[in-house]
Order: sequence, then C-alpha cells, then structure tokens
Amino acid sequence: RGWDDYGDLDVTGAVVLVVAGEPDGELFNGPYATTYQSAAYKADEAKRRGAVAVLTVVDGDAGTSAWRRETSGANHTRTLTPGSAELTLSGAVNRDVAAEMGVDLASLKPRLETGDFRAFALETRITASAEESVEILRTHNLLARITGAERPNEVVIYSAHWDHVGVKDDAAGDDKVFNGAWDNASGTIGVVEMARQLKAAPTPKRTFVFAHMAAEEMGLLGAYAYVADPVYPLETTVADINIDMLPLSGPTRDVPIFGKGQNSLEDDLQALAEQEGRYVSDDGQPEQNFYYRSDHFPFARAGVPALMPWHGVDWVEGGREAGLAAWKAKFGADYHRPSDEWSADWDLRSAVENLTLLYRLGLDLANGDEWPTWKPTSEFGQVRDRSAAARR
Ligand SMILES: [Zn+2]
Repeated sequence: RGWDDYGDLDVTGAVVLVVAGEPDGELFNGPYATTYQSAAYKADEAKRRGAVAVLTVVDGDAGTSAWRRETSGANHTRTLTPGSAELTLSGAVNRDVAAEMGVDLASLKPRLETGDFRAFALETRITASAEESVEILRTHNLLARITGAERPNEVVIYSAHWDHVGVKDDAAGDDKVFNGAWDNASGTIGVVEMARQLKAAPTPKRTFVFAHMAAEEMGLLGAYAYVADPVYPLETTVADINIDMLPLSGPTRDVPIFGKGQNSLEDDLQALAEQEGRYVSDDGQPEQNFYYRSDHFPFARAGVPALMPWHGVDWVEGGREAGLAAWKAKFGADYHRPSDEWSADWDLRSAVENLTLLYRLGLDLANGDEWPTWKPTSEFGQVRDRSAAARR
C-alpha cells in the first residue's frame, strides 16, 4: 500500500515501540481492520527487521481502562503467535512511561494517520525482567483425505477445530465443563458430514483434505503448526474452507462471511447462494476483526485463499430484526461458557443450508482447474504471488 513507518531506520538489536491500531480510511479497508493493525503482525515485522523486543504504547495513563485491560492479561498463561513468540521480550507501556522515554503520543498521533510519520531512534535505557514457565502440551491435528483422480497434488481443505478450553473451576454453579458443543463440535460434525457426502460423490479431480485442527482456542496453534510444516504443499493448496460454529436457526437469506473483500471464493459462494435465492454479506461486526481469529487465518497469512462463513441473521421467517436478536441472545448466553451444550431443540436447518453451499463450492473447486485469487484490497495476494510458478 506504499506505507512505510520504518523508513530507513535500522532496528537491529533494538527495542521497538509501536502504537496499536492502523490509520483509518479506505487505504486500510475502512471499518474492517487489516492484519497490519494486529500485535502479531507488528511483532513479526519487528522481528524480521532484527529487533529484540516490541513494546506497545497504550494510549492512556495508568488509571485508564485501556491500561488495566493490558495489565490484567500480563500474568496469565498465554500462548504466542509466530513472530512475537520469537522476540526476547514483548509487552506494553502506558502513555506516561512512553513520555518519560521521550515519546509524546498526542503530537505523534496525527502523523500516524497521514503517513508523514517515520520511525526515529530514542536514546534511552530499558531494564526489564520477565519470568516465564513453558508448558509443553502434546496434541494432534487429525487429517483425512479423498485422493483426486487427475491432479492429486492440488488440494481443497475443509477445516474445523476440535478443541475447546477445558474446565472453569470458578464457574458459578455445578457445571464447570466447557463442552464446546456449538464452538466447535458443530463445526467438526460439519466437516465429518462433508467428508461422508463427498465420499459418496464421484471421485473428484483434485484431492480433498478434511482437517480437524487442535488448539485453536489457545491461539490457532494447530493451524499454525500445519502451515509451518504442511502435509500438502501450500503452493498447490487450492483453498481452505473453515467451519467454526455452524449457524443454529431456521433458513436465512444471508450467508455472512468473515473478511468480505478478501478473495474470489466469496464470489463463487455468492453465485451458488444466488441459485438458492440467498446472498453473501459481511459479518456486520468490523470491530471484532473476525477474519484474523479462526483456523483459516494461518492459511490466509501463508497466501492460501481461505473462506470462513458465519451465521445468517436475515431469517426467511421473521427477517433481520428477529434473526439478529436471536443470534445476539444465543451468542451472549453460550459463547465460551459452560452452558455451550448440545440441546435437542437445536434448529439445524440453516446449518444444512450453509453446508450444502460449502459442499457445492468445494466440489466446483475440486472438479475445476481454477485457482482462487486474492482481491487487490487483501493483504495476502502478495504472499500467494511468490509461489505462482507452482500453479502454472
Ligand atoms: Zn471456535
């Protein structure tokens, strides 16, 4: 995008201070954030340039809720994404500490928005101590395959994560178990059923892979591990279709997807949805940064076109108002709570509708010779372009 905050500054061996977020406006896709605003991307970029540590400047003093949020996470067990995990230290400072270092955030901020800002060196000394204990947890991704008859090296992946987050000892009431029925047993049964149906169809030209990813809830770790050490080459992986939580409602007109405007898979899905009188929409929650939050994202980051459908709220019976209210109620009551349990009154009609579209999408990809492409507004096309020769 022709944007370069670092300029010519050499940060080898340095501690880099970054400001959270990204500029507003269309260059960074408007209200939907790009991956460039993420702490993981900033850590990655600093690491790539040889920095040893990254400190995020939080725009608030020690009394603000922004700073309290930052510190409340500091002592917890957490997992780190590639990039930040490789730095010697990552952390945050508040506005007052930044000022002591010589950073006047208020005067810097307008320049961060316009692109006039260039990184500069500060002469300061930072003393930090950190303690960590590393816990090694052994887990597994589970892969299954239907081998393509003509081009077996070209792979269409359906993915879903099979983990959730264990038990919550301090949960109110007797039920302390995160069953994860909706998030994400519903997704894993979607993938299993997809495999069953595709196995019953004529053998495809390309290969299907059904991937049950581990440790998604701990930071997409299973998917990151797969992408770091792929079983099937990423250059000739056609697409990843990720199913994280199936919709549970009556039929819907809309098929929301995360990250609308990313790649041509959404146009293929739109064409299929239209045949059913439905339409593809965005997820309606730009502030949630959903496109960067499930197992399709490590694939996208590695350049593989990836799609993640979400829950429709434009109900055929009752319309948008009823659908949105019901979705919000269910999400608020059960998302990441022990109450996320299977219930006999789940309405799976919208799940079947969406899975049917994803079945047709996968079959079209597996029996065609198209390579889905990233749109110019996406961050990931450049990564894909580097391996273009493998797809000629
Ligand atoms: Zn999930």
